Formats: sequence, structure tokens, C-alpha cells
Amino acid sequence: MPSLRPTAIVHEVHLREPFRISRGTQTVARPVIVELRVDGLAGYGEADPSSFYGETTESVLAALHHLGPSIECDIGDIQTLQETIERSIRLNPAARSAVLCAAYDLAGKALGVPVYRLVGLNPERTPHTSFTIGIAEPDEMARKAQAAASYPILKVKVGTDDDARRLKAIREVRPDAIIRVDANAAWNPREAIRNIEQLSQFDLQFVEQPVAAHDVDGLAWVRQHSSLPIFADESCVTAFDVPRIAPAVDGIVVKLAKCGGIPGALDQINAAHLFGKEVMLGCMIETSLGITAAAHISPLVEYADLDGHLLIRDDPFLGVGVEQGKLILPRGAGLGVRGVHSETAQGA
Ligand code: MG
Repeated sequence: MPSLRPTAIVHEVHLREPFRISRGTQTVARPVIVELRVDGLAGYGEADPSSFYGETTESVLAALHHLGPSIECDIGDIQTLQETIERSIRLNPAARSAVLCAAYDLAGKALGVPVYRLVGLNPERTPHTSFTIGIAEPDEMARKAQAAASYPILKVKVGTDDDARRLKAIREVRPDAIIRVDANAAWNPREAIRNIEQLSQFDLQFVEQPVAAHDVDGLAWVRQHSSLPIFADESCVTAFDVPRIAPAVDGIVVKLAKCGGIPGALDQINAAHLFGKEVMLGCMIETSLGITAAAHISPLVEYADLDGHLLIRDDPFLGVGVEQGKLILPRGAGLGVRGVHSETAQGA
């Protein structure tokens, strides 16, 4: 049986501007780029660890080290690979995601087909992505919203002492935009109802994660008393969370870094749809490698928030395109991602 040989390097990237959400500000990200090599072919995947979910760049590297220098597995046997790494690094979903994305890239390249084809999806059916406006002063957020005029959908981070002033400033410069908001668990249920009521005058699409991740009763109560649809992100990490969370929300947010990669995301999307819930595919601050992997399965979902690569100034990869917000999948084999300075994706 062939051996898949994983190697990993850290590739630090920098935000165009400091990215602030209700619980902190980020200026750099340190994704781990995984190369999976066999028989002269290489596949690439990206780990985007979030300390909120208990992972760091260092824990990803340790998990990958734990996997060892080679994994006995056929190219394309992603089922066996998934079982193998779940036994070994179950609590490291970002690390698992990187290895499995690299495996999909490798399998696609070996077969000469794009990943969306491997999973049986129509590339024309990708959704539009939102463009995220981080927390700043109202005039600054309005400036960013105006600069993002080519994106018809905005996602605005909320959870400040005066979100209404910020939304008002954004609405003035973007009267026609679809606007969704994300509180990143900033409010208690009573604050959430009061704030959502006040913000609903700005014609919002839905509210993401109004209350604490563990507070499922709070989510249900907010949903019951709010005029806007409620989506769970921090509260719904994997497919296993869906049956418990579904009755409390209108939709869930799926991210490769939370659920362990493409197979886990397919499970979570299917589970949400079985419970009659809508799905948004989201992301961390990522390079085009990680974003493109998620974009390949985006034809399955109702909404996308796949803009992490648009927020960094030194993206080392070229992959999914965005035209007026619409995700444009690359047609090359595998993930179809290239290094900015090379013909194929290089982890350097
Ligand atoms: Mg979110």
C-alpha cells in the first residue's frame, strides 16, 4: 500500500487592517500549510486553528507530528484516511481539515478532476459570499462598507456599546446591500432581544450567534422573541451538535476548521438540512488555499461567508475567484489552487 507523506510549514499572513470582533482584535494569522506527497504528486491543505476552539498553530504542528512521517493509505481512499486520523488526532479539527483537504487535492489531481466534481457538485451553483466589516468607529466602518461596493452582501460585526450608530452609518452609504450581522456571543438573551429589535430597523437578513456558545436555551428564547432569523456559529461545531441546536435556530454556520474538514462539513450540512435548517459556510482568517477548499462544497449551502482571504494583504495562493460577490470555482484538477509565484501550490 502506498504511503502518504505529510509535511507542514507555518505561513504567517497579515490582515490589511486590524480585524476586530466582539471578543478581540486580530492583525496576523499563522495558518499551517500541509503538503501530502505520494509518487511525485502533491496535494495541499490548510489548517486555520482558532484558540476559541482550543487549537493553536503549535497544537496543529504537534498533531501533525503525532501522525508520523507517513500514513499507509491509497490515494483517493479518503474514507480510510479520515478514520485513521480521527483515531489519532480526533481533538484537532483544524489539523484534520488540512490533511483531508490535501487528500482531496491529491485525489483530484491523480484523477484529473476538480474537487467539486469528486463530491458531485455543480460549480455554477456556488452562492455569493458576504464581505465582512469588522468593528471600528462608525465612519470607519462606513468607509470600509463603501470600499466593498462590489460585494452586494455585507456581514457586519456587532457587539459594541452602540451598534445602531454603526449600522446607520453603513446603511447610509450602502442602501441596497444585503446586511447580516454577527455578535460573536456578545450578548445575554435580554440584551440580544433589545439589540436585535433596535437593529432590525436597518433591514437585516439574519443575526449570527447573539448569545454565549453554551446557551442553547438562550438561543431558543432569543429566536422566539426576535423578528430576525437566528444562526448558530460558536454553538454548532460539528454534525453531532445539530440535533441539539436545530430546534433553537433558523440556520447554522459550518466551517472546515471547526468540523474537521470536507467530510465533516458534508455531514454537518446534511444534518442541518435534514432538520430543515439553512446553512452558511464560513471561515477563519485564511489564505486562498483554505477558502478554496470550502468553496468547492459551497454549491450545497444557502449562504457563504468565505472572505477570509480578501481580508489579508499577502495571500500566497490563487484559487477561488469572487465576481460581484459570486464565488467562481477554479476548473483545474484538485482544489485548483496555485502559489502566487509558481505553477502549482507550493507550501512556501
Ligand atoms: Mg460567526
